Amino acid sequence: MAECGFAVSFGGMESVQEFIAQLPKVELHVHLVGSASMETVLGLARRHPDGGVPLTAEGLAAFYEFRDFPHFIDVYDAVSRLVTEPEDVADLVRGVGRDLAPQNVRYVEMQVSPYAFRRAGLSPALITAALDAGARDALAEHGVRIAYIFDFPGQSADRHATQTLEHALEEPPEALIGFGIGGIEAARAPYRDVIRDVFAAAAAAGLRCVPHGRPAAGRVPARAAAAGRRVADLERAHPVRAVAGGAPAAGDARSRAVRDGEQ
Ligand SMILES: [Zn+2]
Repeated sequence: MAECGFAVSFGGMESVQEFIAQLPKVELHVHLVGSASMETVLGLARRHPDGGVPLTAEGLAAFYEFRDFPHFIDVYDAVSRLVTEPEDVADLVRGVGRDLAPQNVRYVEMQVSPYAFRRAGLSPALITAALDAGARDALAEHGVRIAYIFDFPGQSADRHATQTLEHALEEPPEALIGFGIGGIEAARAPYRDVIRDVFAAAAAAGLRCVPHGRPAAGRVPARAAAAGRRVADLERAHPVRAVAGGAPAAGDARSRAVRDGEQ
């Protein structure tokens, strides 16, 4: 074997790009709804044509031109509201598998916000069954193993934090590995106590804590920053849990907690 990196053979492949394209990969941060491709969202919109989401590719592209983060949340919410049947949930998961397989992604950690589906009338049991079915199909049809992280919007933690925790602990999908928080970071501060409590309970139950947009001192109120530090402390204290089936347990949650800033 060559000792110098520049002498490494790419196995007959013509370029570094081709070599990288063919490497097996993990995707550590996608959202069940937010990462849905045009094809997937069009499928949902056409299944629910009265949902207020454009039914053409052109219309959908314009719909997804975000003005700011609150507008992003509005769009995210509109697409989430299309998800009213278990098959919609399963299709979102299958779509991520289908879309990532060509990049040779073998393992995905996916953020799921069950409150949105509860709002549509789906029970925790139905949501879990749909997530399990989607994960089974993504693996069987596309070779992509899915792991789930449940989260809730910080701005409505008073209504959704405990509900999401109970779902995670009492009726989890088989592949649930973590617990998180998304939504509008600046609006979390009033709910810091319940947020702290649900993360403590999730960690005690063996879930990895994967919060979005951890507050940082200097740009948010000090009390919110303190809440963020407590969550960070929980992450440090919490051991990484292996994923059932031997998929890569994807490293340290701290390194990916704020990958995309907010959701
Ligand atoms: Zn995210």
